[in-house]
Amino acid sequence: MAYSPLPMAMVEGTDYLVHEVNAAFCQLIGKSRDDLIGKPFAERVPATAGTLALLERVYRTGKPESHTELQPPAPPLLIPLYWSYVMWAVPAADNRTAEVVIQVTETVRFDNQATAMNEALMLSAVRQHELADAADASNAQLQVEITKHIRTARELQEARTILQLQAGELERVVQERTAELRESIVDLEAFSYSVAHDLRAPVRSIRGFTTFALELCTEKGDPDPEVIVFLNKVIRAAARMDQLIQDVLTLSAISRERLAFSAVDVDALVRLLIEERPELAAPQAEIKIEGSLHAMQAHEASLTQCLTNLLGNAVKFVPAGLVPRVRIWTEELPFPVTTALDLDSGSPFTPNRAKVPMVRMWFEDNGIGIAPESQERIFEIFHRLHTQAEYEGTGIGLAIVRKAIERMGGRVGVVSEPGKGSRFWLELPKA
Ligand code: ADP
Repeated sequence: MAYSPLPMAMVEGTDYLVHEVNAAFCQLIGKSRDDLIGKPFAERVPATAGTLALLERVYRTGKPESHTELQPPAPPLLIPLYWSYVMWAVPAADNRTAEVVIQVTETVRFDNQATAMNEALMLSAVRQHELADAADASNAQLQVEITKHIRTARELQEARTILQLQAGELERVVQERTAELRESIVDLEAFSYSVAHDLRAPVRSIRGFTTFALELCTEKGDPDPEVIVFLNKVIRAAARMDQLIQDVLTLSAISRERLAFSAVDVDALVRLLIEERPELAAPQAEIKIEGSLHAMQAHEASLTQCLTNLLGNAVKFVPAGLVPRVRIWTEELPFPVTTALDLDSGSPFTPNRAKVPMVRMWFEDNGIGIAPESQERIFEIFHRLHTQAEYEGTGIGLAIVRKAIERMGGRVGVVSEPGKGSRFWLELPKA
């Protein structure tokens, strides 16, 4: 009995004094062993009259009995408690009951747990219901969002398609216009070229016949001085016109021609130019080449034209009576530059772009210099800062230089101050 997990007690005598209890019984009753032993059962245990009657019957008859009774709920527990009693009589030597063993089982915990479980089940059912409702609601919301998303995606796709169509259309129009533009530029260039070309023949005739007339006049003797002056004026005007036409043709050719690039030995080219042209050689001018000039990647004929024009200007625009002094040198630029090489003259709109090392070439003169506000404009066609009487020229030379250098993937510029000479420079890819 002492080790039984079920609450058990033994009572004896007519007063049912508690004779023995086990730990489970003490725990159930909520009293200590000392508080129970030797005390009347009815006094220490909250048993009902029914239980005491049962005990008395077992005592009297000696037969085991059992019953379950409801214990009135006591605070803080307001749940009804069910106690089940089983009683056995322990007979003495004379066969009369000496003691009664009482076993008590409390069913409250089971009921309690069952209720709690029921409650929990109910709660979880409610919760499940709520969750299902919430899931339904969020599903519906999700459905709305998905529909919205699908609609937006569709609209986006439609917009993209429209945009693509428009871009394609735009590209087509641009291509069409570009082709038209290219065609009219080619037509215009061909037209101006043929006009300029055709003009040369009559101008040459005028110049030739006027020279002839002048010769005849002087041969016949006693020519009218006024006639001589007029004839000379016609010859000079015709010569100037011829020069103009020639320059326009050169510019046109530089703009239209197919450019074949090669490594040009600039050092040799400059020295040859100086040798060939008397106005560039001593005593007319002093041209000094510093060090050996870098080779460049260029169209040789175009570069020759540029060098001729720049050197020609360097020795031309000096104050009267001063011997032109020109210094030429090259330097490699520290960083490669993205250039547009116009390899194919037929497609000036699609130049090839590349990052290449560049060389800058300098032409420093001791000339009259150029005011800052004119330094950009002198590269425009026909832009001159002087009269024909001061310095001869057509105003096309620098336009040719810029056009040619740009088509070869380079740049051109000037650094100058009036009265302090000029430094023209050009940049081209290094060979
Ligand atoms: P042109 O030499 O036939 O006049 P350019 O196009 O070569 O035409 O030059 C345009 C103008 O730029 C010149 O008329 C001149 O006023 C100015 N210029 C060009 N080179 C120099 C220079 N080295 N020094 C001073 N002025 C210059």
